[in-house]
Amino acid sequence: MEPIVISTWKHGLAANEAAWKVLARGGKSLDAVEEGVKVSEADPNVINVGYGGLPDATGKVTLDASIMGPDGLAGSVVFLEHIKHPISVARLVMEKTEHVMLAGEGALAFALENGFQKEDLLTPRSRERWLRWREDMEGDEDRLGILMESHDTIGMLAMDKKGDLAGACTTSGVAYKVRGRVGDTPIIGAGLFVDNEVGAAAGTGRGELILQICGSFFIVEKMREGASPQAACEAAVHRILKLREKGQIKNPEGPTFQAGFVAVNKKGEYGAASIQKGFPHALCVNGKNDLIESKYFLND
Ligand code: ASP
Repeated sequence: MEPIVISTWKHGLAANEAAWKVLARGGKSLDAVEEGVKVSEADPNVINVGYGGLPDATGKVTLDASIMGPDGLAGSVVFLEHIKHPISVARLVMEKTEHVMLAGEGALAFALENGFQKEDLLTPRSRERWLRWREDMEGDEDRLGILMESHDTIGMLAMDKKGDLAGACTTSGVAYKVRGRVGDTPIIGAGLFVDNEVGAAAGTGRGELILQICGSFFIVEKMREGASPQAACEAAVHRILKLREKGQIKNPEGPTFQAGFVAVNKKGEYGAASIQKGFPHALCVNGKNDLIESKYFLND
């Protein structure tokens, strides 16, 4: 099979390059997605993933990540602090334990026991942005948890030369979230789902929207029924818009009413769609890595 990597947002380009190196030498899709998203996790300029991620409302960086491979196993960590590469901890949860998900203090203890280093992930730049946000918020605490400034999670899907699929998703979550909030990224079936017989999907944007529709699982099931990856991603967006019509979405206006999806199927076809304009995805086929604007449905 011709390998393929697709990932979310502009920083997906650099992540794709790292993943492609693994695929081009005949490596496994699972290794490719881990190596790929680690690039975003380590980059302080990517302010929604790993090191340099914007903190929660109390100024603390808390991370969520998930990974899923062709054997149908999955691993994830939620509300993890101080570890630069949560995706590698998620992989270890998948490979070393009988569990799928570890949270908070327990996830941190597990990481430290397995040789990960405790680090301060809040960069001076992210701290400054948070301080500015806190100043702006003064006297308006009611808006807490509604004002979710940005979302740029990396979700990556890959198919290797054998035709095996894998996916990874990692984030510091929406900026200035209520402490303890967990989004879609580490929830198997919401931020990420892989079924090696059918296809794989990943989500980004306001996680609550994706959680409400089990976005990635929904997309993979659509593909199982015969939809193309593009049609399946669009169906997920329409499902969210349907909830909005029914009045079942909180804060359904403005730029934070955004979710985007990417998908691939077993044939190596791919697709991407978002609610609003402004969700680029990075696609690497035949070693050619491009940033592409995704199809969107609101504010044409
Ligand atoms: N989906 C992520 C979350 O809600 C945010 C993002 O996509 O950046 O935590």
